[in-house]
Amino acid sequence: MTTLVDGRKLAKQIRDEIRKQVSELTGAPPGLAAVLVGTDPASTIYVRNKHKACREAGMRSFQIELPEQTPESELVAEVARLNADPAVHAILVQLPLPAHIDTRRVLEQIAPEKDVDGLHPYNMGQLVAGRPGLVPCTPRGCLEILDRHQVPIAGAHAVVLGRSDIVGKPVSLLLLHRHATVTLCHSRTRDLPDIVRQADILIAAVGRPSFVQAGWVREGCHVLDVGVNRVDGRVVGDVDFAGLDGKAGLLTPVPGGVGQLTIAMVLANTLQARLAQGDR
Ligand code: NAP
Repeated sequence: MTTLVDGRKLAKQIRDEIRKQVSELTGAPPGLAAVLVGTDPASTIYVRNKHKACREAGMRSFQIELPEQTPESELVAEVARLNADPAVHAILVQLPLPAHIDTRRVLEQIAPEKDVDGLHPYNMGQLVAGRPGLVPCTPRGCLEILDRHQVPIAGAHAVVLGRSDIVGKPVSLLLLHRHATVTLCHSRTRDLPDIVRQADILIAAVGRPSFVQAGWVREGCHVLDVGVNRVDGRVVGDVDFAGLDGKAGLLTPVPGGVGQLTIAMVLANTLQARLAQGDR
């Protein structure tokens, strides 16, 4: 029997919890600054949604829109200005950045305590070491989904498809720190279906429509589909949703699954950053 995850409902519940915590804070409300370079339609929608979610949670939201041709030095200067602004507790530079900008160099300029996406080397190092820090939002959302559905993680075999810095690697580390046995797969992995068949928990973050076939997945495996792929104007995930509905244990739909949690986790990280920085 498959449990379909209602990402919208879960995200709303988390956002309500965060709003309550924010309303009980004394001093300055948490402030999130989102920097958008250029006019990529998907990025524009993501930033707008984060802005709206922030306001609804009682946080301050600062939206900085820069033209596509902005030189890297100007973007770095903007990040420095936000680092120094006491009303800004969290900074998000929307990716991808235009090709003329070195993304790593920009991300490294964000003050680690304001690094809401958890992509600064300091936070990545803390995550590797299993120490406190800001964790990338989508992986944190995956763990929330598992925890809020009481999925046992310790001792489980978790198979992660995709090794990106933003999803695959951090979610593998979070699962490892929770005592899962983790297999991290990528495009050079041999015998992928055989590895997937061993999974108690499967996280698919490949970016290929309906890539994971139902026949690869054993009965009762908990499947979290991170993929967001546009096919003929529709958004689909990385797994064969129809084939897995009825076979998987937990199953996240696309849209309406993991993606909903990502924005809720941006708010959770913003609140975490504000609490760590205190009221200045
Ligand atoms: P990415 O940086 O493009 O990484 C894709 C990963 O998949 C790479 O590690 C790649 O392996 C692996 N891969 C590609 N083809 C494969 C194959 N045939 N077999 C096994 N592994 C394969 O992607 P990403 O940024 O992690 O994003 C993954 C997906 O999640 C995308 O659809 C993206 O839109 C979505 N996403 C969703 C959210 C959300 O909030 N829902 C957030 C972030 C991303 P190599 O390393 O060997 O190339």
